[in-house]
Amino acid sequence: MNLYRYTWRRLTVLLILVLVFLTGCQGETVDNHIATSGKKPEIQTTPMDEEITVEDESDKETEEDDIGSEETTENTEIETEVTVMVNKTMYTRKKLSVYEEKDTNSKVVATVYSYCEVYVISHDSKWSNIKYDGKEGYIKSVDFLESRNAYKADGFKQAAKIDNYIRDLDTKKPMIALTFDDGPSSYTEKILDALEANNQRATFFVIGKEIKGREATVQRAYKLGCQIGVHTYSHPKLTLITVEDETWQINTTVELIKKLIPMDSLALRPPYGAYNDEMRDRIEMPFILWSVDTKDWETKDVESTYSIVTNGASDGKIYLMHDIYAATAEAAVRIINDLTNKGYQLVTVDEMAYYKGVTLKNGKVYKTFK
Ligand code: ZN
Repeated sequence: MNLYRYTWRRLTVLLILVLVFLTGCQGETVDNHIATSGKKPEIQTTPMDEEITVEDESDKETEEDDIGSEETTENTEIETEVTVMVNKTMYTRKKLSVYEEKDTNSKVVATVYSYCEVYVISHDSKWSNIKYDGKEGYIKSVDFLESRNAYKADGFKQAAKIDNYIRDLDTKKPMIALTFDDGPSSYTEKILDALEANNQRATFFVIGKEIKGREATVQRAYKLGCQIGVHTYSHPKLTLITVEDETWQINTTVELIKKLIPMDSLALRPPYGAYNDEMRDRIEMPFILWSVDTKDWETKDVESTYSIVTNGASDGKIYLMHDIYAATAEAAVRIINDLTNKGYQLVTVDEMAYYKGVTLKNGKVYKTFK
């Protein structure tokens, strides 16, 4: 009897110990889960003076309900790298709605498109109070993070703020957008030399298959503040190929560019200027056409290309040229020097749109910024 009671007592103690151990384990598992989903951002971010780190905190559960656990993990990763600047101007790269109140059911006071400056007044885990186009309102912090994802740590923020992607320009002086298609080529560098010497810029709509071997040229153009746009991979008439081929032509080129420069290319110049309404619905980029075709591809004549641009130069125009001809490069050097001396500001398409107050929209066709 005593022996039985003794064994029973030992068993009870053992059972309690096992229970305590199991509970301990469970508690630890829960803690670890919280640590990976909640604490990580705090540890990894090093906020600077005027920045605050983005934390999700209380709305975590709601977010998980909405978008599922996989996406939440992704968000956590973004938050470890992204900080929202307060009292600073930031750039968006995605269409966002600005609400009157901290409520997605409240009135939409403005729509912010990609590449737009947004002034961040304050920010918390759910909402960012911003100013855009003279209007004040709120954007969901999650959307804001997504919008900045494309240029987060290493990319567009640097380009925009440090490399001065949009320069401070004189709005009273005329602006002209020189655009060069079909490159990069061996002649592109000559054009870049002239742009650099005159502190001017241009837009290069590159052909994906021409990039190989000329990666440094694309990178140099970008570093000089020039814009790199998409002109497809192998220059087909997009209206004549399948949707699948069209997607491949564009995506492949975008990927090649993104490998070289820390930003997305958001502007398309369709080869031969050929497009249709279906393409405009499908392709999520503004379609940049031209005001003046210099016909450099036809004449391959320095004097002709030079005089077409310089004689008709006026504010807001987009000129079409091709940086694959020696004659165009020679003409471009003269054009850049002369127009600079005459007080013209040679700008990228993005700069032009910015200063003309035009919000570039996906699928919309632009031929001039007058
Ligand atoms: Zn072309």
